[in-house]
Amino acid sequence: MSIIEVLPEVNEVLRKFELPKEVGFGKIMAPIMIEADYADGKWGPLQLKAYGPITLDPTAKVLHYAQEIFEGLKAYKTDGNGPFLFRPDENAKRFNASARRMAMPDLPIEYFVEGSKTITSYCSEFIPPNSGETLYIRPFMFATEGSLGIKPSEKFKFLIIASPSGDYFKSGSVTVGIERDAVRATPGGVGMAKTGGNYAASLLSANQAIAKNCQQILWLDAVNHSRIEEMSGMNFFAVIDGKLVTPELTETILAGITRKSILEIAQSEGFEVIEKELLIEEVIEGIKSGKCTEAFACGTAAIITPINALQESDDTQYKLQNPEGPVAAKLRKTLLDIQEGRKEGPEGWVVKINPPV
Ligand SMILES: *Cc1c(COP(=O)(O)O)cnc(C)c1O
Repeated sequence: MSIIEVLPEVNEVLRKFELPKEVGFGKIMAPIMIEADYADGKWGPLQLKAYGPITLDPTAKVLHYAQEIFEGLKAYKTDGNGPFLFRPDENAKRFNASARRMAMPDLPIEYFVEGSKTITSYCSEFIPPNSGETLYIRPFMFATEGSLGIKPSEKFKFLIIASPSGDYFKSGSVTVGIERDAVRATPGGVGMAKTGGNYAASLLSANQAIAKNCQQILWLDAVNHSRIEEMSGMNFFAVIDGKLVTPELTETILAGITRKSILEIAQSEGFEVIEKELLIEEVIEGIKSGKCTEAFACGTAAIITPINALQESDDTQYKLQNPEGPVAAKLRKTLLDIQEGRKEGPEGWVVKINPPV
């Protein structure tokens, strides 16, 4: 018995849906969604229903105090394989870690995992078939209680929506602006939670970066502005002296599942991997001296995206020798081969999705 109730409208909206040729990233939404509400200290039923607008009281706490969390994961279907989900249990656990930090209720792990599996199963024929194309799945939860007092909501909504998507970055590599002034996350803050406010806080810097032809921002630590932390929605790696180096996790870094998977894959492919306090000056000096040959961003959306240069606000650029570097290329290939079902990954990473029953 499934824990999900499928509403009668679902079959009809699926039948009417047509996938456009050009999908972009996160633009086209699948015609169905998963929904559950929390009230009186417990979660109500999990339903699969037609995608559509939601009604909120204007005093809903999410609109005023940003009590909100989200996740992002992908379903892969290529070469007639799949669909597959990649480590959905990891996303479910991180969702609850974010929930606790934001004073929100835990969601039963099976609501998250079964919900993601079910929406994938029903959308299977709308997953674009080329390598790198996926169904991008967005589970999220927000405070719906209506009243303006600043205190935790007692009512929440959980939704999963899904978007047939192509590559996140159309061009092969990105230029990354080093943010020397504004900060993303502070010690004691909410940097390790996937909560909307972190992204709202990054947008002013993002605008400034875009005006200088940078597609991403590199955030430094809030105290000394010297340690590399991450990008706004991706983690950071560099190849220094042939070793794969990434900032060690702290409470101001979002613990990426792609980051963690890359560390494991790289080790099994014989790379030396180092998680450490990584100073921006070490990377800049390394680029100048030729010791740092590659740098890349990684995340569910970005997969592995090479960085072609780091850039200061005065437009000084530190160009990577090898922007489409061999290390990033090799790791990207292995990761995608596992995610898309061409290569066996470690136990439990890839979850095959069956057609709806
Ligand atoms: C989601 C996210 C990442 C990447 O996490 P994945 O699990 O690899 O998708 C990295 N940094 C931030 C700030 C994020 O929001």
